[in-house]
Amino acid sequence: MIDFSVEPEFQEKLDWMNKFVREECELLDVLFPSASDMYDMKNTKARRIVKPLQEEVKKRGLWACHLGPELGGKGYGQVKLALMNEIIGRSSWAPTVFGCQAPDSGNAEILAMFGTEEQKKKYLQPLLDGEIVSCFSMTEPQAGADPLEFTCRAWREGDEWVIDGEKWFSSNARYASFFIVMAVTHPQNRPHERMSMFLVDADTPGIEIIRNAPLLLDNRDGSDAASGYVRYNRVRVPLDAMLGEPGQAFKVAQARLGGGRIHHCMRTVGLLQRAIEMMLERAVSRRTKGKLLGDHQAVQLDIADSIIELEQFRLLVLKTAWIIDTQPHGAARTHIAMCKAQLGKVFFDIARRAVHLHGALGVTQETPLAKMWAGAPALAVADGPTEVHQVQVAKAFLKTATPAPGLFPTDHNPTRLEEAKRKWGHLLED
Ligand SMILES: Cc1cc2nc3c(=O)[nH]c(=O)nc-3n(C[C@H](O)[C@H](O)[C@H](O)COP(=O)(O)OP(=O)(O)OC[C@H]3O[C@@H](n4cnc5c(N)ncnc54)[C@H](O)[C@@H]3O)c2cc1C
Repeated sequence: MIDFSVEPEFQEKLDWMNKFVREECELLDVLFPSASDMYDMKNTKARRIVKPLQEEVKKRGLWACHLGPELGGKGYGQVKLALMNEIIGRSSWAPTVFGCQAPDSGNAEILAMFGTEEQKKKYLQPLLDGEIVSCFSMTEPQAGADPLEFTCRAWREGDEWVIDGEKWFSSNARYASFFIVMAVTHPQNRPHERMSMFLVDADTPGIEIIRNAPLLLDNRDGSDAASGYVRYNRVRVPLDAMLGEPGQAFKVAQARLGGGRIHHCMRTVGLLQRAIEMMLERAVSRRTKGKLLGDHQAVQLDIADSIIELEQFRLLVLKTAWIIDTQPHGAARTHIAMCKAQLGKVFFDIARRAVHLHGALGVTQETPLAKMWAGAPALAVADGPTEVHQVQVAKAFLKTATPAPGLFPTDHNPTRLEEAKRKWGHLLED
């Protein structure tokens, strides 16, 4: 049975979230517009405002809803989470206010899955409580989409691991209390079993942030940039700093990325709903050539395309969430790749139309649209570029295909006509 309705009790929660995000989190977005503000625990002014909002979210049982009940979340499941994330996705601050901001949410998940009791106590609990932020340090300057090209390595010396190498785009490195670092430890192993994951405290000697790369709309001087180019200069950590089994970093990373990708997609739906709301308001507010913008057919086409494309994407995301909820672990892999492959296009097309409809105002930073637009190329690359996911989808389906039995396809009209005649020829005689 297919049912698109939402239970009334859950709808009440969504309604509350919707009002709260619009009235509180969206205001935080304009008060503290830099991405850095969300992760800088030393920004006491922002924390003063955010803390009571987080408390309110906790009181309502909506804190860290991506987590199962064993970790203090509600275990709502992915379909409900999709509906919640749509609302959270409207605002840059909302994930922090609701305790589910990346990369901390994914880092918490792998700590919960692969961490020892000591590791959970030291890193997971304060992360879940929103007291610290963390950094996932995997991508390298010379290699991103293909982890088999990574060279940052770690080797054992006595009762320590020594980590040496460079990482690039380690988000929030400058604010993190700890880093999760992927390094080659077993170069002799099969390709996907060469790397291990390490938990490294931020104050460990040898961690050097070379610079923070400013994103499209960050200040060019890098003052609010937080994409760390990090060098690990023979950083020493104890043997028990390894997260997961030796040589199993790839598995740990994969466990983290699937959830991260679909959650980004869920939030992008919400962000684009906001863009469309803005388009609609603009279309019925502004006049040109003696009529409202919305009365011009060219504008109607842009609005219609945006609404239809977002609805298609949203249904794909919801179906993916439903597969995760109802089918065995891993069953949604291809669907997650479909969502991620489509994300960049939908995001960019709708954000571009919304910016364009707002004319000169659209390209300023006086509306949320420019930031949205700048986020599209970033999300098309982060967590793996579009092409990698397209290839994954194609390969999954190609595996299910069988070659045609002869020279012509199975679905070949002349051949099928022969089949039809064999079946019903006797009825066709006069
Ligand atoms: C906003 C943001 C935040 C990030 N945060 C983190 C983080 O916290 N930690 C971290 O470790 N990393 C992070 N990253 C890095 C991210 O994971 C990488 O950017 C991503 O994996 C792509 O790697 P790359 O940038 O080296 O691009 P490349 O791998 O060099 O790819 C560049 C382009 O090459 C093409 N391409 C690549 N592979 C293929 C292929 N197989 N087939 C066809 N074409 C291909 C695509 O057009 C692709 O866009 C972040 C990135 C962004 C944008």
